[in-house]
Amino acid sequence: MKLLKRRQDHSLVIDRPEYYVQTGSMFENPYGVPPDEIVRYVLENNAEVAAQVVFGKYVESSGLVFTGELIQNLFDRSLTRVRGGSWVDEAVRVQAAIQFDRSSRFNNRFYGGVDFARQTDYTVITVLDTITLPARVVYYKRLNRVPWDSIYAEVGKAVHLFGPNFLCDSSGPGGDAAMDALEGRVYCAEHHRANLGGTRCQVNGQSLSCNAEDYISLACCEGYHFTATTKKDLVEHLRLVLGVGYDPRRSVLEPYYKFGWLRSPPIVQMEEELAFYAWDDKRLETDVLFSLALATWNGLEDQVQDAKIGSIHGS
Ligand SMILES: [Zn+2]
Repeated sequence: MKLLKRRQDHSLVIDRPEYYVQTGSMFENPYGVPPDEIVRYVLENNAEVAAQVVFGKYVESSGLVFTGELIQNLFDRSLTRVRGGSWVDEAVRVQAAIQFDRSSRFNNRFYGGVDFARQTDYTVITVLDTITLPARVVYYKRLNRVPWDSIYAEVGKAVHLFGPNFLCDSSGPGGDAAMDALEGRVYCAEHHRANLGGTRCQVNGQSLSCNAEDYISLACCEGYHFTATTKKDLVEHLRLVLGVGYDPRRSVLEPYYKFGWLRSPPIVQMEEELAFYAWDDKRLETDVLFSLALATWNGLEDQVQDAKIGSIHGS
């Protein structure tokens, strides 16, 4: 913002904002309340009040789906906040490249979820490492209105890094077309391109030097069709995973009190989408949430069923 501007009479004035407006999350205000205290506030107030005060947005009291405890417990506050649209756990990425046989369809460590953009929203890719419980978010990518070719290449990159277990939103004309496209495409890691099967990377009609044998098929990506019911299943499952072992008589802030089978770095967009999520979600941003929910369904569905824990909100 320009602080200096000229008046009509050509004298210079300093243009200061006349009042301070809190927009976005309290976590984002570098001069504000320490994060520990914000977390405490979230935990001590009901979800609507916390969402309004902490995130600075109006919430209709229509019932938020994720409680403050579940959300705060998900985020590992020892990790740096992720404000941008891209994050990877570098140590795990290197480990995966060294130790992990990407060609195996039967690996049981990394699981991804992809929520494709429809018209005005975002495409989000999330990957979990499930080698231990709690599982951890190790990869996150949020793409705003990029061409479909770039989206396929980003899915290809994630498959290249973490193997073939990807579950994608296949609903609507967009999702349908995306699944068809992935089915027929191969990814070149060297040039970061998703080519049609049988074609090579090219520039101006000239084939590049990459070896087609190194291309990775994207047909491994599976579809999950959203209906009102299957969407609700995904969200309920995520809530169950976040709440495994939750005891309402204890506080998240208590040392050694651990519950839930998922941890993530504090991704700002994820935190906000979870905090504001309500069953009537037509006007909400939900891409990060559903990408996470798809990855969680993909990687932790069986474990939760095995545990037979029932609803965390039921008696
Ligand atoms: Zn290439």
